[in-house]
Amino acid sequence: MAKRFDWIRKEIKELKSSGFYNKIRRLSSPQGAWLVVDSRKVLNFCSNNYLGLANHPRMIRAAKEAMDQYGVGPAAVRTIAGTMDIHLELEQRVAAFKNVQAAISFQSGFAANMGTIPALAGKEDAIFSDELNHASIIDGCRLSDARIVRYSHCNPTQLEQVIKENEGTYRRGLIVTDGVFSMDGDVAPLDKIYKIAEANDILLMVDDAHGEGVLGKGGRGIVDHFNLHGKVDIEVGTFSKAFGVVGGIVAGNANVVEWLSQRGRPFLFSSAVTPQDVAACIAAIDILEESTELVDRLWDNANYFKKEMSKLGFDTGKSQTPITPVMLGEAPLAQQFSRDLFEAGIFATSIGFPTVPKGKARIRVMISAAHNKEDLNKGLGAFMNVGKSLGVI
Ligand SMILES: *Cc1c(COP(=O)(O)O)cnc(C)c1O
Repeated sequence: MAKRFDWIRKEIKELKSSGFYNKIRRLSSPQGAWLVVDSRKVLNFCSNNYLGLANHPRMIRAAKEAMDQYGVGPAAVRTIAGTMDIHLELEQRVAAFKNVQAAISFQSGFAANMGTIPALAGKEDAIFSDELNHASIIDGCRLSDARIVRYSHCNPTQLEQVIKENEGTYRRGLIVTDGVFSMDGDVAPLDKIYKIAEANDILLMVDDAHGEGVLGKGGRGIVDHFNLHGKVDIEVGTFSKAFGVVGGIVAGNANVVEWLSQRGRPFLFSSAVTPQDVAACIAAIDILEESTELVDRLWDNANYFKKEMSKLGFDTGKSQTPITPVMLGEAPLAQQFSRDLFEAGIFATSIGFPTVPKGKARIRVMISAAHNKEDLNKGLGAFMNVGKSLGVI
């Protein structure tokens, strides 16, 4: 065996022996409350399919029609020959849905962050970043070459302090925060952060990947939740979670959006998203604009599940959203818990380091509008049984 792979084999062996190796399961069904996973029918508690849209008949129909009209691929980047009518339509629809000046789409939320941050901050600039921001924000910040100044999690007072401390030492500033933090489900105090950005005339960017379709009126997101329309300069979103499709979006100030069409590198150097993805996203906006039914059901389900879990004695952290972390501590325990749940027909993956800090391993339950009461009760029963057998409750 070639020596040059030795280090990889050694690292993987270590991951396995320390319980940090991630065993990736295989799905053989569409997303929904129930899935076929590793050839077993199980109740699903770990997708980001908040509204159950990933397999929605109307969206499937829209995607098929788009393929008939536009084919399966754009065959170009947006800036050369890849901008189709429907890309522009989606961007206009998102801007209207969110009640902001403009929007521009990317291939994913990850690509949106990787494209946006380096376009807005460079070598002489400073980025003020929440210490628990998503990996794609961290990577975007690194790529920008700007000075990264981390502030403590969801702490506006400390943010203000680090901005003061760094005053006069940088050319331009950018504040960036997750809207909903994906591992804990807590919400950034965007109203307070906005005031600080405004007072210091610093650009403000929020990544609302887990707030899109969840927070705000009818799922219009965190900016709507805090009623900050026109005040948050950059709102990054994803179509890959509540919208049930795939793709990224940057909505907000028209100057920023126009600049990203010229300097957002994934927009310039990576092909546009497919017509069927775009059409499905537009259909999702139709569904959300017509009724708040799915968003309301999501919140009813989440509130019920969280209430019952704490009654059972589980620590579900400080979540303010349908993300329900079940805190377990060490990674091997979380993995055992997840395996036992799977044996009981419940699919809920464990999450450990490096996605969350060491010692903070958990099972992250994702509640969806696709669940009915019976599903939720079945899940609660399984959590109770496994929790008792492993001595967690
Ligand atoms: C999931 C997530 C992303 C990535 O979105 P994709 O569209 O899946 O690439 C970005 N930021 C945050 C906060 C996320 O939770």
